[in-house]
Parts: sequence; structure tokens; C-alpha cells
Amino acid sequence: MTTESTTTEAIAGLTTVKDLMAAIEAPEGQGVEMMDPATGKLVGRAPQRTEADLDEAVATAREAQRSWAARSHAERSELLNRAADAVEASAEALAALLSREQGKPLNGPNARFEVGACAAWLRANAGFQIEPEVLVDDESGKAVIDYVPVGVVGAIGPWNWPMMISIWQIAPSLRMGNAVVLKPSEYTPLSVLALGAVLNQVLPAGLIQVLAGPGELGAALTAHAGVDKLMFTGSTKTGQAIMRSAADTLKRLTLELGGNDAGIVLPDADPEAIAEDVFWGAFINTGQTCAALKRLYVHESQYEAMCEALVGVAQKMPMGVGLEEENVLGPLQNKQQFDIVAGLVEDARNGGARILMGGDPVPDQPGYFYPTTLVAEIDNDNRLVSQEQFGPVLPIVKYTDLDQAIAWANGLDVGLGSSVWGTDLDEARAVAARLAAGTTWINKHGAVDPRVPFGGVKNSGYGLEFGVEGLKSVALPKVTSW
Ligand code: NAD
Repeated sequence: MTTESTTTEAIAGLTTVKDLMAAIEAPEGQGVEMMDPATGKLVGRAPQRTEADLDEAVATAREAQRSWAARSHAERSELLNRAADAVEASAEALAALLSREQGKPLNGPNARFEVGACAAWLRANAGFQIEPEVLVDDESGKAVIDYVPVGVVGAIGPWNWPMMISIWQIAPSLRMGNAVVLKPSEYTPLSVLALGAVLNQVLPAGLIQVLAGPGELGAALTAHAGVDKLMFTGSTKTGQAIMRSAADTLKRLTLELGGNDAGIVLPDADPEAIAEDVFWGAFINTGQTCAALKRLYVHESQYEAMCEALVGVAQKMPMGVGLEEENVLGPLQNKQQFDIVAGLVEDARNGGARILMGGDPVPDQPGYFYPTTLVAEIDNDNRLVSQEQFGPVLPIVKYTDLDQAIAWANGLDVGLGSSVWGTDLDEARAVAARLAAGTTWINKHGAVDPRVPFGGVKNSGYGLEFGVEGLKSVALPKVTSW
């Protein structure tokens, strides 16, 4: 195992964006150029890997996994903590690169927050206890269930939280004795390659391999006979393709897919008191978050006050280039997403909705900036409500009857998160129990915690991440009975 002194030396090595780029970038004239979505300037060249590279990576992973699996939980946990130290030593450089490539600001619940979460997730996974469970112990005999490594995990990620979601896949996989071959989004490969380089300063060779490339490389990973388990985070459509592709080799699957989370503001809520938390529930990462609040249902008695309070909060949140310290909202990550958001707001406008603020992007400016947009007096069946907008826009729908609001909240084919806002906790919990979602938060939204299992119902996902449940999902149950 790496010793304390060599680790400290190693993790001192990648502390600037220049260091990170030197470790990961494709040579001049090769790879794909990644542009800063805030400025249109070049961030760097991402190497493109082939299916032959994938075969080699899977073979390397299998080899590395054998000795890793033979280590004790304590040893693996120690290395996860070292990996967290490495992330912390490179935190500023990682955050700056993430900000440039993804667009998210350094401050607010954005780039520095994301890098901090990577270290926190590694440490949390290092600390979980997973013990054999005694199922039967009586005169008939004994049965015990234990969890053994699944082998090689193929991980595929999206572009919205590229580092954090990669760590959600990496941390439990390593802790359980697996190796990981990871295919990052083609929109944010540099961020994940950099994270991999930082982790690989302290981890045994071959356990984490990041292969940048297009969706086809992801598809090859999902069909690869040497991969035992897939962890995928991305759109529902790709998740469905992955499920089909994984069928031939019967791979284990964890799918974290799209959502269109509803929030219900009850008649006894205090709009002024909740406005800032509602705002960040919706606008975290400029709305480009799977479990962000994407439709807000507000009781008519609180409707005007809630709209006004949200506008008040939103007006105080600066949007701009991520590396400028004052900004807390950034651009959309790519043109395709910008066009989706702009089209949905146009539909709302054409449908007679009231645009409380935003809705008019500045033409011909550099970067994919879409202004913070709040939309009121909108019908529940408008596309801005019924489709995942994944941008800085929140439709606010008025309701008079709580049963109607619950029916609207449950009326879509997705169910990742949801939230209930009110002062009477018993009432809020009773409403929460009626919402069809993997998680329902009360008086907050999207607050994930490494100790608390997270996953979607309906078309939002399959399986759970985080906590001991998350460890089990990258393991094989093994029963011994005597
Ligand atoms: P996407 O599905 O377009 O792409 C995700 C990844 O899949 C990329 O790396 C892509 O290259 C790869 N891919 C594309 N085609 C593939 C194929 N046929 N086989 C294997 N891999 C393939 O998703 P996106 O646009 O990057 O991400 C946004 C979506 O992700 C949103 O819907 C969002 O809600 C969802 N999301 C969900 C969670 C969650 O935890 N549930 C978290 C973040 C994002």
C-alpha cells in the first residue's frame, strides 16, 4: 500500500489547472476541443478513446480488481480516505476546471460545492459498515448473507454534475472491492479525466480508468462481456437503451434517470420564510440538476405572496461567468439545452402564461446564458410544466384543492424527487406519503446525503445509490447456510 509520506508527496502534485491539463489533455492536433460554455473559449482537448482501448481497459480492470478485492474493508476504507485527501489537495484546481468546462460558478451550490461533495462522499463511503447478516439461527440451522464484490463496474455519466456523479459511482464501487471503467459525458470529459488523475495519485493502478468518447463508446461499455455491473446516470431514453443492451450479458444495473420534480406549497406555508430554499431547490446548478424542483404547485391563498417572494430572491442572484467570484448562476452547458429551455418558455408564453421575470435571453451574447425565469398563471398541461426543462426556469402553478395538486404532482411518468412545504409537519408528512417519488423532502428540495439511499421510481430510475444500500448495489449477495 502507498505509504503516508509518498502519498503526501504525490497529492501535492496537481494543484493548478495547468497541472491537471498536463496530466490529461490530448496532444495538440488530436482529441476533441472543449469550449467554455460561458465564453466560447477553448478549455482543452479531450482525448478520444476507441473500442480497442475499452477492451484493454476492461482487461486491466479485471486484473487490478483481483488484488483489490483481496484487501480488507479497513484497507480499502483507508485508501478511500486518502483519495478524499487528494481531492481536497487539488480542490481549487478541480473547481476551476469544472467551472470552465461545465459553466457552473465557483460559488453558490456549484463548483466548489461539487468538489467538496466528492471528498465528502469518499469519506462517507469509507466509514460505512457492512457486516454479514444472520438470517436464521435456530434449531433448524443457520443462514448468513454477506456481500462480495461484483467485479468490474462500467460507469457512465452526464454533464450536469460530472465530478460528483462520477464519485457517486466510484466511491461505493471501490469500497466494495470493485474496479471501475468510466465513460464521462462527451460534454464534460476533462472534468472527469482530471478527477481520475487526482484519485490515481493515491489509488492502485488500474482500479479507476476514465475513457472519454462519444455515446457509442458508452454503448460498447454496456455490451462488454468483461463488465459485470453498470451504473448509469443520464436521460431516461439512454437508460432504456442501456437496459436493452445489458440484457444479453445479464449485467446488474443501477439507473439514475431524468425527473420532473414537483413541489407542493401548502396553505399554511410562509412564503417569505421558504422562498430562498424553494429558489435553490429549483435553481441549483442553474436548474441543470436531476432532482431539482421543476414544477411548483402553490395554494391559491399563498400564490401571489409566493410569486413575489421568489422574484425578490431571484433578483438578488447574479448570473455570469463562473470564474467571477460574485456569480452564483451560470450558463446552460450546451446549445442543445439552451434551445430546449428557450422553446419551452416560448410555449408557456404562447399559452398565455405570465412571465414574472426573465424569458428574454440577450441575443448574440457569448455563452449560453438564459436568464433566471419565473413563470406564473400557467396551465398544468403546458409543456413547460409537463417536460423536464433542465434550466433556470420555474413554472408556478396555482391550485385550490390539495387532492388536485397531488394528482398533478403524480400525473407524470417520472418520479425522482418531490417536496412538500408547510409549517404543520404532520400534515406535510401525510401529503409526502401520497407522492409517487423516490424521495420526498419536507421544507427543502434536492438535499442529497451520502448516508441516505437515493433513487427514482417510474421512469426515473432503477435501483438505489448511497448509504449501505448503495454498497449492496455494487456487490453480489452471497448466502451461506448450514
Ligand atoms: P444522456 O443520456 O444524453 O447522456 C448520458 C451519458 O450516456 C453520456 O455519457 C453519453 O455519452 C452516454 N450515452 C449516450 N448514448 C448511450 C448509449 N446508447 N449507451 C450508453 N451510453 C450512452 O444524458 P445527459 O443529457 O448527459 O444528462 C441529463 C439527464 O440526466 C437529465 O434527464 C437528468 O435528469 C438526468 N440525470 C439524472 C440524475 C439522477 O441521479 N437520477 C442525475 C443527473 C442527471
